[in-house]
Amino acid sequence: MKNIPVIMIIFGGSGDLAHRKLYPALFNLYEQGLIHDNFAVIGTARRPWSHEYLREQVSDAVHETHNEVNENDLKEFASHFYYQSHDVTNVEHYVTLKELAQDLDDRYCAHGNRLFYMAMAPRFFGTIATHINDQHLTGSGFNRIVVEKPFGRDLASAEELNKQITASFDESEIFRIDHYLGKEMIQNILPMRFTNPLIKNIWNSDNIKNIQVTLAERLGVEARGGYYETSGALRDMVQNHIFQIITLLAMPEPENISAEAIHKAKGKLLASLVMPTEADIKQHFVRGQYAGSDTTFAYRQEPNVAEDSTTETFAAGEVKFSKGPIAGVPIYFRTGKEFKEKKSRIDIVLKHMNNPYGRAHSNNITIVIDPQSEIYITINGKKIREAGIRRENLDYTFSKEEMAQVPDGYERLLHDVFVNDSTNFTHWSELKRYWEYIDTIEAAWQKENESGQAEIPQYPPYRMGPKEACDIFESATEHWIYE
Ligand code: NAD
Repeated sequence: MKNIPVIMIIFGGSGDLAHRKLYPALFNLYEQGLIHDNFAVIGTARRPWSHEYLREQVSDAVHETHNEVNENDLKEFASHFYYQSHDVTNVEHYVTLKELAQDLDDRYCAHGNRLFYMAMAPRFFGTIATHINDQHLTGSGFNRIVVEKPFGRDLASAEELNKQITASFDESEIFRIDHYLGKEMIQNILPMRFTNPLIKNIWNSDNIKNIQVTLAERLGVEARGGYYETSGALRDMVQNHIFQIITLLAMPEPENISAEAIHKAKGKLLASLVMPTEADIKQHFVRGQYAGSDTTFAYRQEPNVAEDSTTETFAAGEVKFSKGPIAGVPIYFRTGKEFKEKKSRIDIVLKHMNNPYGRAHSNNITIVIDPQSEIYITINGKKIREAGIRRENLDYTFSKEEMAQVPDGYERLLHDVFVNDSTNFTHWSELKRYWEYIDTIEAAWQKENESGQAEIPQYPPYRMGPKEACDIFESATEHWIYE
């Protein structure tokens, strides 16, 4: 693998994301030789850490995520890390940071290449982007910026942030990260759809009745109530992860598998995204909040959550496109906290066919994303000693050894940033459509809040969300496959 020269600057170097995800992922890329001799990482945060202390943190992070570590490699890897105490709101600190980056560039022959990673609270993204620009932090080689979620909290704030970032970076240099796009089974959707005639030829509105996307979390908001109050399930999960999954499921076949062709096919689909009316939202969208139990808090009792909060911890709804291979097919989604288990899955429900055996038999294709990785398809045959149809699942699974080989999403996506592959990142034009849609729902819900007409359903913890979510379907013959 080619050794890529670069100085990487992580804003939020003492944070949870950097520790649990970025440092272990960088170590794996180092072990593969992608970043090796000619790289340095500057971790920045406000705390007065030393280079040595950051290196210890990096080593701890690698040990915590790896069963076996080559200690010599780890020591050498950690020696490439430098710490700069930096308050992102202080303009002068950017001058010091720029000088350190230049020094390290000379020392490591990094060819003026810079990679900026925004791994901190989103309210700072715009400030950092502005100061990268006005303090001229970009280098003379390639410049790339990775932006964590959430990218804005509505279309207007996303546009403002995008303006601040594009002052220094071209669209082709901006990597808006959505870690779901780094997941193994999400990356399997397009090859599954387009390489097998059995699947490709039924992927249309003649054969698909509906698609169901479920991203269920077992945990509640825990200590993050303050942040969650500014977000909610729709902004936190639907605007990014669920919409990206839906786009992969509904997009037309790309001309090839280059980043350009894939974004073009996505763009074509998203131009036909049907914006729901207020009536659609009333009928096909549901929000909810988890209630408490003898042993658990209700959402409204969580620390830093308002007693009369209207922030949803559950959202379900219906998305449709007017063009593309499954134009008009309802794509239902639901996501929320305090489900019965952690599970991410997609169910593709096929239409019933008239058949000589009389009864209708439902057939589905299911893609399980988390916690296991699996695809299964229902196949019908005959029962052995009695009349009737036997249904079995044909499985596409991974062995334990194969699962151990699967890179973490962050490793995969960081790799893509280093090699300048933007296939699995969110393009601005996609993000804009997603926000337009989310803003439409938010506005309708806000109107309901203000009119005082609708109480937000409270759902029992550790089950399947509010019962109202079973009523969002277009017809009485539809229901959630995963229950
Ligand atoms: P965190 O609160 O753990 O870390 C924030 C970092 O910012 C810390 O290093 C802190 O010292 C630093 N910081 C705060 N104020 C500062 C200032 N004024 N100047 C300089 N540094 C300052 O947050 P996190 O969980 O690591 O999340 C970072 C980003 O990644 C967020 O946008 C989050 O949405 C996103 N994200 C996190 C995860 C995760 O697993 N933690 C997963 C997906 C996305």
